[in-house]
Amino acid sequence: MYNIALIPGDGIGPEVIREGKRIIDFASELNNVQINWVEFPFGAEHYLKKGELLPDSVLEEIKGMDAIYLGAVGDPQVKPGILEKEILLKIRFSLDQYINLRPIRLLQGIESPLRNKTFKNINFYVVRENTEDFYIGTGSSFKGKEYHSDHVIKRNLFQSNIQIDFQLDGEEEIGYQLGLLTRKGSDRIIRYAFELAEKKGLSKVSTVDKANVLSDMYGLWRRVFKDVSRDFPDISTDYYYVDAMTMLMVTNPERFQIVVTPNMFGDIITDLGAAIQGGIGIAASANINPEGISMFEPIHGSAPDIKNQGKANPIAAILAGAMMLDSLGETKIASTIENVTQEVLKEGKIKPIEFGGKASTSEIGDGIIKKLKKLLN
Ligand code: ATP
Repeated sequence: MYNIALIPGDGIGPEVIREGKRIIDFASELNNVQINWVEFPFGAEHYLKKGELLPDSVLEEIKGMDAIYLGAVGDPQVKPGILEKEILLKIRFSLDQYINLRPIRLLQGIESPLRNKTFKNINFYVVRENTEDFYIGTGSSFKGKEYHSDHVIKRNLFQSNIQIDFQLDGEEEIGYQLGLLTRKGSDRIIRYAFELAEKKGLSKVSTVDKANVLSDMYGLWRRVFKDVSRDFPDISTDYYYVDAMTMLMVTNPERFQIVVTPNMFGDIITDLGAAIQGGIGIAASANINPEGISMFEPIHGSAPDIKNQGKANPIAAILAGAMMLDSLGETKIASTIENVTQEVLKEGKIKPIEFGGKASTSEIGDGIIKKLKKLLN
């Protein structure tokens, strides 16, 4: 039995999570696995009603569970940044979910905007570092005359004492954001990428960075990549700069198996990945701490424009659920859900509204359950 924290969230979050949950339940029961869902109301609606975001006590409670299954949080009535920072980033940072895993896979039955590319050409993983780089939260913008002691950064960042003093004159204005990588932070994510290659029977790991121009930070990343690769002699490696990567993802996506990349480039290329795999409604994602609690979610947001209309495609949420089962060690149930979802799309009778079809959110869920039932007979 697994205890799963369920956060359906806002907008289409609850609609897609409903389908994911019932498919996970159904497939798990087939395999005598029980899921105990513990539902939490956090998101925009709860915040607007109760003024509560994500209390520390709940975070503590979640630490005793097996995983988190999340829909989406966000609402136009809440200022951008609040929910992201106080719910999503709070979970990610306090549970040290240092891996963002994004399968980029074109399913059969889905058309890629890339002409002539099929499921045979687009099938790789992006492993994005999730805690460092330009996301460490150290930055400011100010004019010289506003200068005061806050603009001297004195921080213990990752055990190192850093002090930078930005002294400006009068009307001069700057904005800065510090990016930072540590050997430890780079080592653990790169190692995970190589281990993932071994686990999935893949033969190559590629690094994506910008070690030519931003050579201090990403030069460190490359050195660590080289060091770690020596521990995996059977896995080959290659190196790409992020600008070249964006071209190759469009022209030669078949070149990639596992791509490991620092936080910011990962942010950018995973959206490109979602586009080439056919759309936002099928892209799933995991925020992983292999030694702790991980969180699984569709990459899309709350999409308030299509809320409560039955138009949301639940496939991303369903596949995020399969990733959750896989990470819990229930690989058989995970692959059953993936295969059945793939079969349903390939058949083409059930086509999501997102792709010009007629199937509503629950009809897509029904179609998958129906196929799962057939497996019983
Ligand atoms: P948020 O602020 O929570 O990120 P958003 O609306 O700005 O929400 P997304 O929800 O990620 O951003 O998506 C942008 C658009 O893509 C939506 O407005 C919606 O039309 C479409 N979309 C997103 N997810 C789905 C889905 N699962 N099925 C169908 N269409 C979707």
